[in-house]
Amino acid sequence: MPESVQEEEFSIHWIEDVLQRVLERDVDEYLLSAGKSPSGSIHVGILRELIISDVIKRRLLDLGKKARTMFVIDDYDPVRSFPPGTSLSLDEWVGIPYSDVPDEFGCCESYGAHYANELIETFPKFGIDPEIVWTSKLYRTDAMIEEVRTCLRETETIREIMIEYVARDFSPEQRAQYVDSMKNWYPASVVCPECGRLQAGAKGSIMPNRITAYDPDTDAASFKCHYCGLEDTRPLSQLRVKLTWRIDWPAKWHLFRVTCEPAGKDHSVKGGSYDTGLEVSRRVFGWEGPVKVPYEWVQIGGRDMTTSEGIVFTPRSWLRIAPASLYRFLMLKTDLQRTINIQPDRIPDLVDQYDRFERTYYALEDADSDRERLARLLYPLCEAQPVREEYVPKLSFKFAVVISQLEELLGHDVVVQRCVEAMKRQFGVESLPDESMSNIEQRLKMALNWVREYGTKRDRVEVPPEVPAATRQTLTDKDKEFLSVMVEALRRGPASDEDIQAAVFEAARSVGLKEKRAFVVMYRLLISRKSGPRLGPFINLLGREWVADRIASVL
Ligand SMILES: [Zn+2]
Ligand SMILES: [Zn+2]
Repeated sequence: MPESVQEEEFSIHWIEDVLQRVLERDVDEYLLSAGKSPSGSIHVGILRELIISDVIKRRLLDLGKKARTMFVIDDYDPVRSFPPGTSLSLDEWVGIPYSDVPDEFGCCESYGAHYANELIETFPKFGIDPEIVWTSKLYRTDAMIEEVRTCLRETETIREIMIEYVARDFSPEQRAQYVDSMKNWYPASVVCPECGRLQAGAKGSIMPNRITAYDPDTDAASFKCHYCGLEDTRPLSQLRVKLTWRIDWPAKWHLFRVTCEPAGKDHSVKGGSYDTGLEVSRRVFGWEGPVKVPYEWVQIGGRDMTTSEGIVFTPRSWLRIAPASLYRFLMLKTDLQRTINIQPDRIPDLVDQYDRFERTYYALEDADSDRERLARLLYPLCEAQPVREEYVPKLSFKFAVVISQLEELLGHDVVVQRCVEAMKRQFGVESLPDESMSNIEQRLKMALNWVREYGTKRDRVEVPPEVPAATRQTLTDKDKEFLSVMVEALRRGPASDEDIQAAVFEAARSVGLKEKRAFVVMYRLLISRKSGPRLGPFINLLGREWVADRIASVL
């Protein structure tokens, strides 16, 4: 697997490519948009789109342009299915907009708001601050209803576009059928005033409550509800309407004059909904529409994430186990046409890699000039907060994985103190800034969450309060001789990680015990396993006195 290649490979030219295409629009204010339907927990993949928008905005601001980002929550979309585990009944809520479905957890104003809020709350951590637009509220504004009117007046043009794009690969019979079905088709549906539904039927057999006639002179719209059977004609201003999906998107682009919107491959395929939207922009709104930026999906552990099937890894799940800047780094360094596969089991390696990259930016790491140039360009875009002038030492994540598991045994203060000592040694400094201290706290939490949720048996370290009787019984006379020498060596005074590591070898040799056996005996006494973290540093973490007492307890 070319994994190491992929990790070392950076292709960030895409940032400048997109920037150039956006700049060509030469507008007074650049607007970068992203959007998502809150059909359940929203997975971390959506952040790829938001981070693309965010870096282009940052680059525009760097150039002295006006620019902002926007996130459209499509909470006006009707329920088609619920993810596994929902307590709500699909029969009861199918076809009703997410904004009208209650929040089963009781904390937000709707089902849609709940899942949108779950995502929005993580934005500051990821360094993004888009304006939030709720589609359900947008459709209550006169400005949006005016867009709907434009579309209804231009229904004939929209029908032509739909036939051109949707039926482009149909067989002649399918096409004839589709053309026939479009004769009385209108690009908008109505939320039934009786039953509150935008459509009837679930996945595969959906019947939208479409407008069946529209009179531009009186502004009266006729509609039929396929769920409860209500048929009526009312003024458009007295109805809750929604444009059909492929038309809703370009109408919003036009309303806000969106300059650029990235889109996942499902929407951005040739002739897909994005291209349909651009055609609608040109022919219905007389405007070229946004710069299209297609991007590949983000996978988790090699699988596509789907809300409807419950394969979800949320931004919150990410923040529990890893820094936000690492996520931005992974998104930014990868070409837009490449799938990004997040492997949670590899987080400690990835954090290490990002820490080295950060030190390269501060010229604290040996690196060639290409790498330095890359770090200078990319690192500030990876950070959620403005970059500091001085490097802030970070606790090694791998170190945090081990020591965070010793907190119960050593207590929090001792754990923090050991982290501080280790960092002072690693970075050759006398003291650490406050930022390093808060970094220690964060990394200890993340590392513990990571090891509990994704760590393998090898990563787990558990120190039993006492050496189990079964372990004592396995000790031979020679083992005990070796242990006596070890107790003395440990009590002899201060020793570095390396000194202790060497002392184990020496003690084993001095009594004629095989070195491998010596390590097994030590690990058994400490963590009831045959192997574990590197012994020298691990003994220093536990404290030499403590380890000496532990050994003495079995002699
Ligand atoms: Zn809620
Ligand atoms: Zn109805």
